[in-house]
Amino acid sequence: MKIMPNRMDRGFEMYKEEFEQKALEVLRSGWYVLGKEVSSFEEEFAAYVGAKYCVGLASGLDALQLAFRALNIGEGDEVLVQGNTYIASVMGITMNNATPVIVEPDEYYQIDTTKLEAALTERTKAVLVVHLYGENAKMDDILSFCKKHDLKLVEDCAQSHGSTFNGQMSGTFGDVGCFSFYPSKNLGAFGDGGAIVTNDEAIAKEIRILRNYGSEKRYYFKEVGLNSRLDELQAGLLRVRLKHLPELTEEREKIAAGYLERLNNPLITLPKQREGATCVWHQFVIRCDSRDKLIEYLNEREIGTIIHYPIPPHLSEAYRYLGFKEGDFPITEKMAGDVLSIPMYNGMTEEEQDYVIEALNAYRG
Ligand SMILES: *Cc1c(COP(=O)(O)O)cnc(C)c1O
Repeated sequence: MKIMPNRMDRGFEMYKEEFEQKALEVLRSGWYVLGKEVSSFEEEFAAYVGAKYCVGLASGLDALQLAFRALNIGEGDEVLVQGNTYIASVMGITMNNATPVIVEPDEYYQIDTTKLEAALTERTKAVLVVHLYGENAKMDDILSFCKKHDLKLVEDCAQSHGSTFNGQMSGTFGDVGCFSFYPSKNLGAFGDGGAIVTNDEAIAKEIRILRNYGSEKRYYFKEVGLNSRLDELQAGLLRVRLKHLPELTEEREKIAAGYLERLNNPLITLPKQREGATCVWHQFVIRCDSRDKLIEYLNEREIGTIIHYPIPPHLSEAYRYLGFKEGDFPITEKMAGDVLSIPMYNGMTEEEQDYVIEALNAYRG
């Protein structure tokens, strides 16, 4: 049996008729950018997460970049961010000429809140929390830290659509929540897409202007902005998927529960769940000391896996100019060396799950 790490075609098949009907409706409408699909999606997504405002954008990276820009975070300012994240989290900071200050993650893969104080300087202006793999960070600690030191809080929710901490959804704790709708995300479009959510009217308004070249009124430009608009087709298709997101999340929870219950190989460490938090299982990430050998073993059985992420941002070539070196963040670096995302996707059959579980349990290193 051949199993891929992700199957976006399955996610399409599940609601094929609805997607096809919506695509045709948008194509026939004659209106393709910033129209009623986008504004309806913004309303529906804001209501889903429990925020006052949502602004649709072209990508998750743009959401991060514009969030810091709208919060006036730039040159000379420092932003605390966990070391084990997708590089876009850090790019959102550096595209504004602000400085990322790396903090090690905890055992749940989010920022270690016991290490925040030590990373603080006079220049610290914000925390970027990443709900990596779909699990909520320890938001009670983070909120009190930000309040105590008068810091802005931005949430990278690119992997956490619908995850909660003490019943509250990710994206609504901080000043701005940043989402990606890249096709492989839990709420995926059929191309690129992103959004911010916020309860601050002024921030929503500013990002609305910035996404459209800095104009509020057509051909009157207040500032130099971006072209970062969510298009009507993606917004329409996202509305279809959003309606089904609760059941899609439930399906992922069921697959994860099966993995947690039935994987029992002592060579493999399973993910832990934080008390008070829910996980939407963007990835199911295991750890294994002989990870690269395990990948080969699974490849031989035609089971595909992905490493999220093999090189942490601070060691990436792109950030050589920041001057980090190997050994600076040992916990982050160890994770990069032993984490592995096993197949996890909507529409995964029971046979596929059984096959993955049996193969992993039979691994002898
Ligand atoms: C996917 C992702 C992003 C970037 O989103 P794009 O829409 O691909 O630009 C940012 N942060 C994290 C954690 C992600 O997983």
